Amino acid sequence: MTRSAFTAISSKPLHDDTHSCWSCGAMRAAHFCESCGRVQPPAPVDYFAFFGLPRKLTVDVLQLEKDFYELSRKLHPDLSARASAREQEWSLEQSSMLNDAYRTLRDPIKRTQYLLRLEGIELEEQSKSATEQARATGETKKQIVPPDLLEEVFELNLQLEELRVIKDVTRRLDRGAPGDSGLVEEISQQRQMLETRHEALLEELKNYWKQWDSLVDRGTDAAAGERAAVTKKMVDVLNRRNYIRNLVRDVTAVLES
Ligand SMILES: [Zn+2]
Repeated sequence: MTRSAFTAISSKPLHDDTHSCWSCGAMRAAHFCESCGRVQPPAPVDYFAFFGLPRKLTVDVLQLEKDFYELSRKLHPDLSARASAREQEWSLEQSSMLNDAYRTLRDPIKRTQYLLRLEGIELEEQSKSATEQARATGETKKQIVPPDLLEEVFELNLQLEELRVIKDVTRRLDRGAPGDSGLVEEISQQRQMLETRHEALLEELKNYWKQWDSLVDRGTDAAAGERAAVTKKMVDVLNRRNYIRNLVRDVTAVLES
């Protein structure tokens, strides 16, 4: 049976797909047919399913890269010169999805954000409503900042504001170097600490990946509540990481201004 890209609704992973190849009728056709090699119509699947992966967060990135290059070759539109216009179009669609899937899954943060989105959790910073609201009001997007983190960097934010003012005054008075080297030194040290924190949060996130993955292995029903708790922790880590990344960027901008 031939499936159209626009009517096929399947949430099943491609590797479980039992549909047959549109061309030769062989079973288990995915992106391309393993029997005759022809490209198949794209099915609406998530990025994990596209690579035949379970929705787990620990990913063998080297294997992913190998699969990516192999699929790239097999789906490349230029290689299907013998193919019909319809097949070439499928090749283009499949290749573009392959690229998106690979770019998302190879990056630890993007992969986590993507999985959270599949689980129905939209991070505030990326959410559509936040983007639209920011656009409408011309304000910068609201950031979710854990209060303890905000308290922790309160002093730094004050120092940063102080340095901003000093630099501004110095510039207006047309003097050379900014006057407060002690302040610059202190802020630089804080930036160093924040960069270390930023790295540490990735390690913390990876620990939650392990918890998530083992809950997936245990099955969905029993572990549903625990999964919700782990996703909450991952969201918290991502929010902290976002805030720290933005703060480091601000600090760098002021130090280098
Ligand atoms: Zn075939």
